[in-house]
Amino acid sequence: MNLPEIQQRLRDFAAERHWDRFHTPKNLVMALAVESAELMEHFQWLSPEQSLDVQSDADLRQAVAEELADVAIYLIRLADKLGIDLEIAIQDKMQRNADKYPVYLARGNAVKYNRRKTPSEERNQEAGT
Ligand SMILES: [Mg+2]
Repeated sequence: MNLPEIQQRLRDFAAERHWDRFHTPKNLVMALAVESAELMEHFQWLSPEQSLDVQSDADLRQAVAEELADVAIYLIRLADKLGIDLEIAIQDKMQRNADKYPVYLARGNAVKYNRRKTPSEERNQEAGT
């Protein structure tokens, strides 16, 4: 199923239940946040190593998959209600991320682009100038 097909199924699902009036952007963004929190709950208190083991726990992996689907459903529905082409928005954002994080500056570090030193600033810092 591609994104337009998913959007149509979500529209149909809401329309058949007369739920469209509840699917305001405000309600959808709140539902998205709630579902994101439900996803996070599965990882709460796990060590980084334990969080990697989620994929080998079949029951937990299934529960996480369901929350991921909930997040995706509300995200897709919200974009649809706002008339935002999610595929284009994702492509545009990925390009902006690539521009902000060129490989030669970002490889191997997780420093936010606006806190990163340029190579010449790093050389100056190392030289004490
Ligand atoms: Mg949920």
